Amino acid sequence: MRLRSMTKVLVLGARFGGLSAAYALKRLAGNKAEIKVINNTRFSYFRPALPHVATGVINENDVMVDLTKALPEKRINFQQGTVEKIDASGGLVYYTKPDGDKAEEDYDYLIIALGAHLGTELVKGWDKYGYSVCELDYALKLREKLKDFKGGTIAIGSGLFYQGKSPKPKVPENYVPVADAACEGPIFEMSLMLSGYFKKKGMLNKVKFVVFSPGEYLSDLSTMSRKIVREMYKQMGIELVDNFRIKEIRENEIADEAGKTIKADLTILIPPYTGNPALKNSTPDLIDDGGFVPTDLNMVSINYDNVYAVGDANSLTVPKLGYLAVKTGNIAAQHLATRLGVQVKVDQYYPTIICVADNPFEGFGIAVKDDTWYGGTTSIAAPSPINHIKKELFHKYFIWTKGDMALEKFLASW
Ligand SMILES: Cc1cc2nc3c(=O)[nH]c(=O)nc-3n(C[C@H](O)[C@H](O)[C@H](O)COP(=O)(O)OP(=O)(O)OC[C@H]3O[C@@H](n4cnc5c(N)ncnc54)[C@H](O)[C@@H]3O)c2cc1C
Repeated sequence: MRLRSMTKVLVLGARFGGLSAAYALKRLAGNKAEIKVINNTRFSYFRPALPHVATGVINENDVMVDLTKALPEKRINFQQGTVEKIDASGGLVYYTKPDGDKAEEDYDYLIIALGAHLGTELVKGWDKYGYSVCELDYALKLREKLKDFKGGTIAIGSGLFYQGKSPKPKVPENYVPVADAACEGPIFEMSLMLSGYFKKKGMLNKVKFVVFSPGEYLSDLSTMSRKIVREMYKQMGIELVDNFRIKEIRENEIADEAGKTIKADLTILIPPYTGNPALKNSTPDLIDDGGFVPTDLNMVSINYDNVYAVGDANSLTVPKLGYLAVKTGNIAAQHLATRLGVQVKVDQYYPTIICVADNPFEGFGIAVKDDTWYGGTTSIAAPSPINHIKKELFHKYFIWTKGDMALEKFLASW
């Protein structure tokens, strides 16, 4: 550890995980820590509302947070830059500034919140025929495509999750189930939302929806909730195809690894999730064989005591969910604060799937709370107009606090 007047904490990434960790640590540790956030873009944004941007419900400006203003206001430093690699043994982060200059930054403590990589390069034909809602530019491209869509088959589904297997995080084994898909909530949400979108346009009879999954669809939910979704899809005329591991998108169809095809005039994909390239480039024993960071229940790396990982970049968060990113970000901040001499209770990590699939066109949302995948008994999937309002509140709260989810239990959908 280097000699300096204040402990230097570097946070990599500025969405749910990184922002939660940075804001919570500043609140808890105050002047005991000098915090700097590095993110590859100047703007952070509220990812759960990208389906709303794609369907024109809200504008792109409604989801963005300017990090150059939001972070300094809370006495957190911000540096725009693309992290190339972490030397965890030497305590250095190497990154490239927007003007192309190479730079490095040391730290006393590091919080990794770089998320996962969307492996579009693993799907042939993606550049030409692929659409998504996972990043803002994808949502905007899809918005244009939907405006001009004259009818046909829309296939919506996920690529495979390239989950790491070894070494495992030091947490109870049931907390980290093996998953085929990283996050199917947005697929469910898009299937509801697009159905409402085309109904409103008076074109629902011209559109057929096919939902596909690399394993069993929504396998992270209870058998009962899955059955309800299947029934719902039957009533809505949505075809469901399980065990379809997408390999290629063509002009009017998609193909899987086994050579099976599905007709698709428009393909909306949550791309395969892999480890972040910056992490794959880093000190090898920082990551698992998938490129995710294994930690203990306090989010401390199993091999580097001064390195934390939170959110999608941590191997213990399954599925890759904003709720778990905020939770892990808060735990890392609390734990680190105790090491800086602050008396604070460190929350116990327990995974639960909590999210809302919204259909703003028909004024309802389905709120999910489920821990059966981890051996628990909670399984709620409730459709209601209140849940649509909850999702709106969640969005507004994020923008209002500039990504500081401190009161998420009360004001957001969680
Ligand atoms: C369309 C969609 C809808 C979703 N809806 C919901 C929802 O309703 N509820 C819910 O709970 N979850 C939802 N999720 C999941 C949720 O968005 C993610 O789990 C969450 O964003 C993870 O947060 P994170 O901070 O760990 O990672 P990310 O959100 O991936 O953030 C990583 C940050 O690091 C930056 N970064 C990446 N690489 C580098 C680099 N090399 N150098 C510098 N910066 C870098 C990125 O730009 C980004 O700012 C949704 C996901 C998608 C795709």
